[in-house]
Amino acid sequence: MKPGPPSSVRPVPILAFHKVDDRFEVGVTRIGRLRFSRIVSELRGWGYAAVSLADCADPARLPEKPVVLTFDDSYESVHRNAFPVLAAAGFKATVFVVTDYIGRENAWDVNLGWIRFEHLDWPRLRELRDAGWEIGSHTARHPDLTRVPASRVDAELTDSKRALEDGLNAPVRFLSFPFGRYNDRVLDAMQRAGYARGVGFWLRKPADKTLVFERKAYYLFDGNLSLRSKLTGSPLGFLENVKLRVINFFSHGTALVKPSSD
Ligand SMILES: [Zn+2]
Repeated sequence: MKPGPPSSVRPVPILAFHKVDDRFEVGVTRIGRLRFSRIVSELRGWGYAAVSLADCADPARLPEKPVVLTFDDSYESVHRNAFPVLAAAGFKATVFVVTDYIGRENAWDVNLGWIRFEHLDWPRLRELRDAGWEIGSHTARHPDLTRVPASRVDAELTDSKRALEDGLNAPVRFLSFPFGRYNDRVLDAMQRAGYARGVGFWLRKPADKTLVFERKAYYLFDGNLSLRSKLTGSPLGFLENVKLRVINFFSHGTALVKPSSD
């Protein structure tokens, strides 16, 4: 029997999280500790096993139901609240770091709760690395890469990669685009800087799909039904796309109202 065409191989679902924190803020990217624990329990109950983006390069070695768990912005709460839950479940994850903010407080995220959220410092990043987590770049200062000059794009991608590789003594192969936004110019810069792939949200499909992993973001208002649709690409996927576009539209305000990020 002939093997099926490559398109019949379903891509590994990739979930994107941000803060896992019980402190209140006006925003949709934060989820509480209890909710996160329940998500991990659901994933285990449904038979999923967490893998890294690097693992996805070799489909033959993937478990039967793989999932990649990613965290953007490398908030300290990922280490404090998500790491213990994942470790207890035997899961690893991928964290995308904004390197100029390592060990510092956030300055770009719209946060009407007036709480300053801290980012992971080097000791915690190394602890995650030692536990088998994958560490990727989320640029140096989190600009919208589609809206800054080409020289700035190059610097954001190369500086952050070098900082992480020096600080962690490990290769950095993956890049998460700030606000999920990229274009052909950004993809060219990504390849020049030596990344294997980027992760974003397919608001616009790239010409070369092998350069970008599509992710589904998990938000404050998401429940089990939308978690399943994010994992399986069910008909609810259409709604997911509408939701993503609305949130992406408003997150653009984040880039505009925060003057201190760049
Ligand atoms: Zn981000």
